[in-house]
Amino acid sequence: MSTPARVLVLNSGSSSVKYQLLDMNGGERLATGLVERIGESTSRIAHSPSHGARREHTERIDDHSAALRAAAAELARDGLGLDSPELVAIGHRVVHGGLRFTEPTLIDDKVIAEIERLVPVAPLHNPANLLGIRQARELRPDLPQVAVFDTAFHTTMPEYAARYAIDRATADEHRVRRYGFHGTSHAYVSRKAAELLGRPYEDTNVIVLHLGNGASASAVAGGRCVDTSMGLTPLEGLVMGTRSGDIDPAVVFHLARVAGMEVDAIDELLNKKSGLVGLCGDNDMREIRRRIDEGDDEARLAFDIYTHRLRKYIGAYLAVLGRVDAVVFTAGVGENAAEVREAAVAGLDGLGLAVDPSRNAVRGGGPRLVSPDGARVAVAVIPTDEELEIAQQTFALAGAGESGSEGAHESRREGGRESGRQSAVEGHA
Ligand code: AMP
Repeated sequence: MSTPARVLVLNSGSSSVKYQLLDMNGGERLATGLVERIGESTSRIAHSPSHGARREHTERIDDHSAALRAAAAELARDGLGLDSPELVAIGHRVVHGGLRFTEPTLIDDKVIAEIERLVPVAPLHNPANLLGIRQARELRPDLPQVAVFDTAFHTTMPEYAARYAIDRATADEHRVRRYGFHGTSHAYVSRKAAELLGRPYEDTNVIVLHLGNGASASAVAGGRCVDTSMGLTPLEGLVMGTRSGDIDPAVVFHLARVAGMEVDAIDELLNKKSGLVGLCGDNDMREIRRRIDEGDDEARLAFDIYTHRLRKYIGAYLAVLGRVDAVVFTAGVGENAAEVREAAVAGLDGLGLAVDPSRNAVRGGGPRLVSPDGARVAVAVIPTDEELEIAQQTFALAGAGESGSEGAHESRREGGRESGRQSAVEGHA
């Protein structure tokens, strides 16, 4: 029998900490939880053990240290305490790894300093990720802790896809280039797509559409990302819940010069008051569909703008990849909104893309094909699981994966997709 081994996955935001505890012998989720509104008097802790009822309560949680202690207390109530010898590693989601971190990386002081150095390109995310890392190290200094970067999967993008066509010296001095995000999801889903098709990952070309509240597309050729829609920040690309995605950069100058708006106000407009919410006041696709069914023109237009952008990216990535084996929909909207999937490929029959209406209408379930039999390009729905991917990569890197876990081996292969570049792990060893 294999030795029990658990990995804790932490996703630390500025005012929230999401956590999951996974059993690596089989990948079972033992508990999931969320501490939110950190720093307010009404912080909320919601905790769901896999064997037991969901618990939720409100108490004042002053900072990330208290949040982690609260999560640890909840886990301990289920006999899953973080002091258990079965906990073998902690994995952290880190949003921005720049060009330095191309792989999951064992955390030490140098790695922390490097993540800190990237704060200017990820001012909203990296400081919060660092808080979580520091607190977790204080809680269990003896355990290997691993940073898994949202940007890492995209570091294989060729220079011609990653560079903006702006002055080189300015771009280099300020690290202005396209990094891409949601990489953990794109990696997981593209690998699962190859499995679903029964093809070797190295010989499978996939367009992944991660459509959640944030949304991004990627073109993955044989397990390597060759293009993605997000850029220097997660603002570029597809229309999202509250973000505009692609716009003419001159819109910013226009709003500054003609509307007299400050840079921070424009930042907030494009990140928080745009996208679906800016267009129709709602960012939940369920609500938008309900309004469309009632004949609401504003909601209809928002939906059409959203799906038109999606179609443009599908077309662009068909051209980037040349041969595409599958177009895959994932995340909240991609997994659940059949109308979005249908509209995104509508009229693309000539390019080999179509959905089968009855397959597309099926709700829930695991990875599945929604294209008709014999379609030139498969269209699939694959539920993403970023936490499982982070746990597997953490487990493999922490040196704990010797017990024969399938997940660990899967991650090693994933880690091995890069042959020609120096791994950040080695760089810090
Ligand atoms: P995520 O960021 O992946 O959690 O996705 C969140 C978004 O998924 C929500 O804002 C909704 O727009 C969308 N969503 C979730 N469930 C459904 C559903 N059943 N039908 C349509 N959209 C959904």
